[in-house]
Amino acid sequence: MKDYYAVLGVSRDASQEEIKKAYRKLALKYHPDKNPGDPGAEERFKEINEAYAVLSDPEQRARYDRFGTADPRQAHPADPGVGDLFDLLGQMFGFNVGGSRSSGPRRGEDLEAVVEVSLEQAAKGGEVEVRYRRLVLCEACGGAGGEQQPCPTCGGAGRVRQVQQSLFGQFVTESACPHCRGRGYLLRETCPTCGGRGRLEKQERIKVTLPAGMDEDDLLRVPGGGNQAAGGAGDLYVRVRIRPHPELRREGKHLIYTLKLGLAQAALGSQVHVPTLDGAVPLDVPPGTEQGAVFELEGKGLPDPRGGRPGHLRVVVELEVPKKLSPRARELLRAYAEEVGEEVPAEGWWEKVRKKIFK
Ligand SMILES: [Zn+2]
Ligand SMILES: [Zn+2]
Repeated sequence: MKDYYAVLGVSRDASQEEIKKAYRKLALKYHPDKNPGDPGAEERFKEINEAYAVLSDPEQRARYDRFGTADPRQAHPADPGVGDLFDLLGQMFGFNVGGSRSSGPRRGEDLEAVVEVSLEQAAKGGEVEVRYRRLVLCEACGGAGGEQQPCPTCGGAGRVRQVQQSLFGQFVTESACPHCRGRGYLLRETCPTCGGRGRLEKQERIKVTLPAGMDEDDLLRVPGGGNQAAGGAGDLYVRVRIRPHPELRREGKHLIYTLKLGLAQAALGSQVHVPTLDGAVPLDVPPGTEQGAVFELEGKGLPDPRGGRPGHLRVVVELEVPKKLSPRARELLRAYAEEVGEEVPAEGWWEKVRKKIFK
């Protein structure tokens, strides 16, 4: 795994401003136009751009810090698309960084949608419905935006080249054609359906199959589920949110259940029922069970999405000391204390003490 911070030469807590500064400096130094025929510089330049793409985006940076990757297949979609970043670079330095990237129609943007499931659904997996909005190509004009004619300024290339003198020497700059705004064509007639935009917003309902054992914030990639564009559709990333369970808490693939026991139940033992993801199961609590005791129900946790053994359900005992006692219960507890030799003050002692304290 690459250390993006080391690539840019910044500390892990560097501010966005510091990252941007470091990036500008390195990008200028290693830009291929300044190092013709040096494959090392080109490699370094790519690396710098990759690092900046991740660290300049707060969401991607957070994911990289957490998972050590910003790879969309492992962690998250690279949203601002690389295309956007290269455009930004072009604006910053006035050169065409993308090379061949800028030619040809662009792919649609990646999208993210959220699906909320119960803990039971997350454990079992299966089909869920996802609703989201995306841009689809206008059917009336096929995405062209209307009847087209090639742009006379750029001859349909969408970009114009200029030779420019600068502080760093001579640059061949290439930028989006100002006449057609990089599209390479002009509209003879605007499509009335999409108003020339070529795309329309559409509400989508799709079914996706969740693998068993998904965790909060896991992402599921749906290839081609993103925005459509002339160069193909982007991907959709479905983010899983899990509704809290009323009784069970999740810790990775394990589940935790807090079992509240009364003093008598703990001392004498008890037969209780414990909730699991597939119904309650009986549990024998032995006599003399202590506060914090743990019973492990093997395999009653969640399945391991990586194919390992399923998790456990941990039953953690929490002793409940009675707060309000009836006279009879008090009497019995006193008899109990006397029997086992536990020393307790005489009846009515606390009322006297409280009067003194809160006079
Ligand atoms: Zn043009
Ligand atoms: Zn249209």
